[in-house]
Amino acid sequence: MAKKYKGPAIGIDLGTTYSCVAVWQGQNNRAEIIHNDQGKRTTPSFVAFTESQRLIGDAAKNQAASNPANTIFDAKRLIGRKYSDPVIQNDIQLWPFRVVAGKDDKPEIIVKYKGEEKCFCAEEISSMVLTKMRNIAEKFLGSTVENAVVTVPAYFNDSQRKATKDAGAIAGLNVIRIINEPTAAALAYGLQKRANCVEERNIFIFDLGGGTFDVSLLTIKNNVFDVKATAGDTHLGGEDFDNRMVGHFVMEFKRKHNKDLSGNSRALRRLRTACERAKRTLSFDTDAAIDIDSLYEGIDFQSSLTRAKFEKLNLDLFEKCIKTVESCLTDSKISKSSVDDVVLVGGSSRIPKMQQLLQDFFMWKDLCLSINPDEAVAYGAAVQASLLCEESDNSLNLVLLDVTPLSLGTAVRGDAMSVVIPRNTSVPVKRSEVYVTTEDDISNIFFTVYEGERLKASENNLLGSFNFSIPPAPKGHIPVEVCFSIDVDGILNVSAKEESGGNEKDITITSEKGRLTTLEIERMIQEAENFKNEDMKFMKKVEVVNGLDDYLYNMRKVMKDGSVSSMLNSIDKMKINSAMIKGKLLIDGKQDEEAFVFVDFRKELESIFESAMEKINKSYSDEESD
Ligand code: ADP
Ligand code: MG
Repeated sequence: MAKKYKGPAIGIDLGTTYSCVAVWQGQNNRAEIIHNDQGKRTTPSFVAFTESQRLIGDAAKNQAASNPANTIFDAKRLIGRKYSDPVIQNDIQLWPFRVVAGKDDKPEIIVKYKGEEKCFCAEEISSMVLTKMRNIAEKFLGSTVENAVVTVPAYFNDSQRKATKDAGAIAGLNVIRIINEPTAAALAYGLQKRANCVEERNIFIFDLGGGTFDVSLLTIKNNVFDVKATAGDTHLGGEDFDNRMVGHFVMEFKRKHNKDLSGNSRALRRLRTACERAKRTLSFDTDAAIDIDSLYEGIDFQSSLTRAKFEKLNLDLFEKCIKTVESCLTDSKISKSSVDDVVLVGGSSRIPKMQQLLQDFFMWKDLCLSINPDEAVAYGAAVQASLLCEESDNSLNLVLLDVTPLSLGTAVRGDAMSVVIPRNTSVPVKRSEVYVTTEDDISNIFFTVYEGERLKASENNLLGSFNFSIPPAPKGHIPVEVCFSIDVDGILNVSAKEESGGNEKDITITSEKGRLTTLEIERMIQEAENFKNEDMKFMKKVEVVNGLDDYLYNMRKVMKDGSVSSMLNSIDKMKINSAMIKGKLLIDGKQDEEAFVFVDFRKELESIFESAMEKINKSYSDEESD
């Protein structure tokens, strides 16, 4: 694999609920998971806006209950989708933040920031999370980081992949490769089990996270990771289990107290947080308590849930996962008895019932629990990043052969889907198909490009369309070759040309509806820069306000010391006391003032205090010399 990128490159697992960043460390011959400023190895994919600042990660999640309308999460569920998508319509019911339809049916998130209404697309929110992950890495490495490998669910379609790349661009990151999450996890697993890899092994990766579910079947042999098939559901995961629990307790609350809390987003957020915690408990305990003070209209809520009830609430979802596992195996043409390892990835893969169903399905095979389910994806991404970078001292010689998750093709007569690249074809790939006109004397062919498995083209997902002009001729006389190519990131490009010379014009779909244009991305990069400046300004202010607060605290302490204050002359004492009062007022009303006001006041304060102290010191030394 040719190494082409300069400088360090990181691997980012941009998750629906949690994100994780890692970097390859040649000296240790492994990837390092980097912890954030809270000392945690994963960071919530949350962004919040307040009256005074923007928050990302733990800080955003921690204030979610008190600021639900302006705390954004789940951007990955929105990215690359249309507002009218039923999946989005369904989610909107549950989100405490506002989502509206923007241009070309693109969803837009509306928040209030510093008293003003602002509107963001999912790419922008994801870019903020990426920026946070990048900052975490930069702090650890002590240098700037420009290059990153970002992971996506294997089952992400073309527009979701492109939108993820755009998010990277807005964050000012050079996304050197998009890789599939299960493939990245396989890389992490394969590396740890490398010694066993001389013989071909069939590895099944089961990745059940917060918002997405992904499975892949790979073979590993001689350091070649060959994905045979992939399947999944970009909208199934731990949050759905949480939702079921929330629904259950909303009903229980109604039964017990005859009150409906479902319209109150703060109460819902608090209930959801409690449910998520209880769910985690139920992975190692058989029942979990729920205890929330003053949940709704002053009523305390106490309840509990048994593991059995939790399983009952979610059984259909767990079974849906098994169906997907089955279809992936069918596609791969590898029987379940030939699967050597079943590797569990993603936080929700810890659920005992899920593990049990999986184990039953694979005929009681032991599941592999040796890799960290929260970190494997970022680990693999960091490995891939180092393989692409000039400066990394990664001596591994790995090859990744990934596949495309959905069939790609064009609509032909009668709205039939003509598949050009079938799903589970290895990428990168380039395939052509020749089409002829079906009517006499037309001068223009309208091509549509779809992805999906339905036979009726319009039932699939429309990626784009273009017109191709041809000289008028009887039907069937002008063959046009349409070429589909998928790059290593799994992103599609389509072109067309007249086969028999003549019109050699190459047409490529460049901007599909809903995708950000270069201009829009540039504007968003500029905005991201403004945000960065505002964040820095905010932090600077926090620093000077805290500095002033500490200084005032110390002053108060000194003044309380009777021996000092008795030495002060009355004018100085008055000056100091009134300055301390002014300082307190300033700090209490800090929202309204700019940073320089605090800096200037601090200087004034220091000069008043220090000159008074000098006088005391001087009188001390005068006394001594007397
Ligand atoms: P994503 O990659 O989609 O962000 P993760 O792989 O980080 O997701 O998994 C997060 C999900 O895993 C959350 O829904 C969380 O509640 C769930 N989770 C984490 N630990 C456990 C556990 N012990 N039992 C059940 N679910 C868990
Ligand atoms: Mg994940």
